[in-house]
Amino acid sequence: MMIPYKHEPFTDFSAEENKKAYLEGLKLVESYLGQDYHLVIGGECISTEDKIVSVNPSNKEEVIGRVSKANRELAEKAMQVADETFNTWRKVKPEVRADILFRAAAIIRRRKHEFSALLTKEAGKPWNEADADTAEAIDFIEYYARQMMKLKDGMPVESRPGEYNRYSYIPLGAGIIISPWNFPFAIMAGTTIAAIVTGNTVLLKPASTTPVVAAKFVEVMEEAGLPKGVLNFVPGSGAEVGDYLVDHPRTRFISFTGSRDVGTRIYERASKVNEGQIWLKRVIAEMGGKDTIVVDKDADLELAAQSIVKSAFGFSGQKCSACSRAVIVEDVYDQVLNRAVELTKELTVGDTADQSYFMGPVIDQAAFDKIMSYVEIGKEEGKLVAGGEGDSSKGFFIQPTIIADLDPKARLMQEEIFGPVVGFTKAKDFDHAIEIANNTDYGLTGAVLTNNREHIEQAREDFHVGNLYFNRGCTGAIVGYQPFGGFNMSGTDSKAGGPDYLLLHLQAKTTSETL
Ligand code: GLU
Repeated sequence: MMIPYKHEPFTDFSAEENKKAYLEGLKLVESYLGQDYHLVIGGECISTEDKIVSVNPSNKEEVIGRVSKANRELAEKAMQVADETFNTWRKVKPEVRADILFRAAAIIRRRKHEFSALLTKEAGKPWNEADADTAEAIDFIEYYARQMMKLKDGMPVESRPGEYNRYSYIPLGAGIIISPWNFPFAIMAGTTIAAIVTGNTVLLKPASTTPVVAAKFVEVMEEAGLPKGVLNFVPGSGAEVGDYLVDHPRTRFISFTGSRDVGTRIYERASKVNEGQIWLKRVIAEMGGKDTIVVDKDADLELAAQSIVKSAFGFSGQKCSACSRAVIVEDVYDQVLNRAVELTKELTVGDTADQSYFMGPVIDQAAFDKIMSYVEIGKEEGKLVAGGEGDSSKGFFIQPTIIADLDPKARLMQEEIFGPVVGFTKAKDFDHAIEIANNTDYGLTGAVLTNNREHIEQAREDFHVGNLYFNRGCTGAIVGYQPFGGFNMSGTDSKAGGPDYLLLHLQAKTTSETL
């Protein structure tokens, strides 16, 4: 019997033994910093001259690793291998595919703190955020393996006397996984595993800022017994390799997580039927958010301020689920804002290898520059009441920033910043607050703080986001508990970690036999 799914617990770092284990993880990661990593195509390790250099965003001088970079020729080779391997992998029993996943999860669990420490080094994640990322990677693997077991016999359909009908799910083919740097382990592993456990083969192109954790994951999958050619590792540039693979006539589907700009570009390119192509490509896209926390006048105001601050500044606001707008009913606006400012001023920012810092850096210079330019816009559009400073001399550090008194249509309230900046705006009443909450192009997460039951039900119906939370923050969805994904420009309405996610990687086949 399979043990029922339960999410991986978070590590309590106030316990000495856990602290020690994490520091050992850091030491281990430090012992292999700067190494070279290769591409993997059909199980063959390929090194290229051209490398992606991954650095620590807390300390630009520290090289995490140098990762070989695929070009078009290698991408083509990987596509041919994935395409061929599909013929055998699709016939491997779902149970066997799931067993490989269970083994992979066990390996990762044993190396949990090493993986988290690597996330601290490569993505600048604070300990608790890195730990949650690793836990989520394990959750995706465990959850999708079990989901596949539920789907393996298809769905029941009726049969008339003298016939036997079956409705089963079969995989799609070779797909491209383009994964983000903000959950460089969880989302990278989750999107890859979902495609593989359903019987597809993949080319994994990880984010160029965090390719080392992806290379380590590919090693784990090999160790877990995944046959050669099922998972091909092709880091590379979007312009050279990404477009080429998206356009490729043998690409059957693309699973993308990242920015709205890149997502819409992929969606558009994938819609074109190229020469030699005999299907319409499927696109699964998880894009941005402009997520709102609404505070009602009848609410726990301390909880509201805490929820806003934690959701806005956890991992420097670099989550598509992050709170970047606080919409507060005017009766309690000053109180919530003042308390949020107080809490924000207590937050510390620094190199997260040191456990004491709440917040680390942002991912790179381009992100730093973009976020700082939004701080300037914010100063013009509203009032800077906390933070506003940045320093990119050693790493890319930005103070947690609050801009108050914004117009609901201000750029700061509409455009995704993807950094530690939150805008506050005043609503006349609860109806007005919901109207403001819905006034963006996105629809990913949201939260409502209220003790008013009618308002909870009103928000449940009218607050149009994929993940809506009551009386808590708007980040931290758990696989299998709060399936994650949004509406409108937040993506293709897919729900990672949900009961229907694997179906996006499958197609249904009806067979009808006359008896
Ligand atoms: N699933 C994460 C959360 O609920 C966010 C994922 C993302 O930022 O892409 O906070």
